[in-house]
Amino acid sequence: MTSFKHELVGAVGMPIAENPTGIMQEAAFQACGLQWRYLLFEGGEADLPGIVAGMRAMRFKGANFTIPHKVAILAHLDDISASASLIGAVNTVRVGEDGAWIGENTDGQGFMQALAEAGVDVAGKRITVLGAGGASRAICVELALAGAGAITIVNRSAARAEPLVAIVNDKTDSRAEFVPWQGTIAIDPSTDILVNATSIGLFPSTEKPDIDDDTISADMLVCDVIPNPPDTPFLQMARGRGARTLDGLGMLVWQGAIAFRMWTGQDAPREAMHQALADLFG
Ligand code: NDP
Repeated sequence: MTSFKHELVGAVGMPIAENPTGIMQEAAFQACGLQWRYLLFEGGEADLPGIVAGMRAMRFKGANFTIPHKVAILAHLDDISASASLIGAVNTVRVGEDGAWIGENTDGQGFMQALAEAGVDVAGKRITVLGAGGASRAICVELALAGAGAITIVNRSAARAEPLVAIVNDKTDSRAEFVPWQGTIAIDPSTDILVNATSIGLFPSTEKPDIDDDTISADMLVCDVIPNPPDTPFLQMARGRGARTLDGLGMLVWQGAIAFRMWTGQDAPREAMHQALADLFG
């Protein structure tokens, strides 16, 4: 007899039409022959208690919480990983054997895996990060926990950057400083790794961060969190100056692959996931 039973994973947050993770995770389940479904939901903060209760009652195997719920979901969890706790935000829930909902943050871990795949060891490196929002927090905390030498955080608002600098300096062995982003910013020539962790350049925008392009050198590794388009004008500019580059699509696939492994216990089919997103983003 045919079984119609499916294991369920859900995502809550950004408008369904803008959320690419369903296509990526469904492609992964299919590639592995798993009877799993990844369902996308929309809802505001007031809907979260009901959505979480529904997912728990239906024995969901896990979930993603995207903008704007990455902080609000903390109130609905049974436990939280050490790095997600430092980051102060959760994008992934995994379910423990006892049914406990455990909060994780795979955004920064995905970035670290993309770096490792490119053969980059961050220990002792000098890193400049543009932006101090959610993606930057996740990346800076993981970089600091992995032993980055010094992290310079460039941001317009001090209100977002200063608490992040304090987390790195107070809770890790790494050092961070805040540089206010006023006008065109020159990148410190001692920078080994430069990361655009702002939302600048996300489709349909073709903008790039306001930096002095002449301060990018061939010694730098230049990374972008923007997954769509993968080859942003920022990365194109950096390559034009001889720098190595790393795109945000690789990070997105890795964060999804880490979540997939947490949910299913299996290694993720990253090529199938990458292909599904590459097809989507054109
Ligand atoms: P947030 O809204 O939390 O933060 C946005 C950041 O960008 C802030 O630091 C903001 O500065 C800065 N910023 C925005 N516009 C400008 C501008 N014109 N000039 C200077 N700074 C600017 O967003 P997230 O951190 O959650 O997401 C950022 C991007 O990361 C998104 O595009 C998202 O798609 C991407 N992302 C990619 C992931 C991946 O796996 N590849 C994972 C997670 C996110 P200020 O504080 O001064 O306003």
